[in-house]
Amino acid sequence: MQDYIIRATAGNESVRIFAVNTKNLVNKAAKLHKTTPVATAALGRTLTAAAMMGATLKNDTDILTIDIRGNGPLGGIVVVADNKSRVKGYVLNPQAEMPNKAKGKLDVGGVVGIGVLTVTKDMGLKEPVSGQVELVSGEIAEDITYYFAVSEQTPSSVALGVLVDVDYSVKQAGGYIIQLMPDAKEDIISHLEKVLPTFPTVTSLLDEGKSIEDILNMIFTDVVIHETIYPKFYCNCSKEKTEKALVSLGVDELSKIVEEDKSANLHCHFCNTSYNFDEEDMRVLIGGLS
Ligand code: ZN
Repeated sequence: MQDYIIRATAGNESVRIFAVNTKNLVNKAAKLHKTTPVATAALGRTLTAAAMMGATLKNDTDILTIDIRGNGPLGGIVVVADNKSRVKGYVLNPQAEMPNKAKGKLDVGGVVGIGVLTVTKDMGLKEPVSGQVELVSGEIAEDITYYFAVSEQTPSSVALGVLVDVDYSVKQAGGYIIQLMPDAKEDIISHLEKVLPTFPTVTSLLDEGKSIEDILNMIFTDVVIHETIYPKFYCNCSKEKTEKALVSLGVDELSKIVEEDKSANLHCHFCNTSYNFDEEDMRVLIGGLS
């Protein structure tokens, strides 16, 4: 089944909802980066959040970045989303390990550690807009909830989950963002305060065969779906773009690289692809400039 996001409302449009199934894109990220299960969970939860947050961007050129830096073995997480919910991202140490918590739960908070979360929205203005908060737990969902409260003044409930199988593939991944609009009435607020704290995890429900629509209907009685969006793991790097970046260094710099290293190897962190330019390629680039 294809990954999808639903954009919905409930409570007479006073509650804004995004819910997503991201199994395929998280699995693709895990394969590209060869992550350990706990690193897959940390990266996957962040990609899942970014896919939903990307859907709030208005223009095709708008870009949202979630940057998490912690003192744990993972080092950090960088994820980028556009307004079509195409996401890409990486962790600084894909091989990071951390003993599981009780009941075999992956210790994402432990592998991330203490640190900060920064969300930057580049909307083509003079300066990008960014908000930074300290990590609450490093479990990502709580940290994003805190970000929404502090930086966007929006009371939210965020759930993010990644279930990793024994063969390291992604068995389930998904989440939701539920946000109260200023006109939310007391009855819907108290309903959510009652239901959500003990609500089962998204991945356990997906694993039982429930859809994200089923999950929302377990929380609300009046869900209205407005749109379906298809998120993807997508990196826009290419050999041509890398070549342009090299050419922009100029003849002198390129000649120095050939002298010292013979070839140039440029690596895209987001999709873990290497672009190699051997001596012959480099001479062609230099020849084109002089
Ligand atoms: Zn790339």
